Amino acid sequence: MKIGVLALQGAVTEHMQMLSALDAETIPVRIPSELNGLDALVIPGGESTTISKLMSDYGLMEPIRKLAEQCFPIFGTCAGLVLLAKRVPNLEMETIGVMDIEVKRNAFGRQVDSFEANLEIPALHNGNFRGVFIRAPVVEKAESDVEVLCKLSDKPVAVRQGKLLACAFHPELTEDLRLHRYFLDIIKGDTDCKK
Ligand code: GLN
Repeated sequence: MKIGVLALQGAVTEHMQMLSALDAETIPVRIPSELNGLDALVIPGGESTTISKLMSDYGLMEPIRKLAEQCFPIFGTCAGLVLLAKRVPNLEMETIGVMDIEVKRNAFGRQVDSFEANLEIPALHNGNFRGVFIRAPVVEKAESDVEVLCKLSDKPVAVRQGKLLACAFHPELTEDLRLHRYFLDIIKGDTDCKK
């Protein structure tokens, strides 16, 4: 299994280490040709405005959008969640725009820019998960074909739609491999992408 990690900005190395620990081959993706032959892509956290700009500058926006529309698995964390969303009212940049969700950036306000919370993710074996939130977004609205995997204060913070997986927190900043393993299962699984 060969998984690309979008390496324009953000927590790239941490994702690559986690995927390697799960025996996946990983490559950093900076230019469109590096998408060739991948089984999946991870879009790390960082700053969605910066990542969006760099994706456009490097010609990555359109090829990644096309892949996502063809049932290609993508896992976005934090800024990655923002970039996968179809609607982000407080972002002036383009998103890949493939998940039927509306996302609010920096949803927890400045006073609690960063915090950790104990989450419950029933789809994972042994549901508790320590969520690391850093200037995190939340999902404000999710269409009916989006599966909500986890909520915090009544707002979805982890969602799945077909082979697209996204969370508002940073599993790559913990030692917990379960969400990445769940993504590998999505890659291998037989999912109806309704496209
Ligand atoms: N607030 C950032 C954004 O909107 C996301 C922060 C993160 O990825 N840790 O891009």
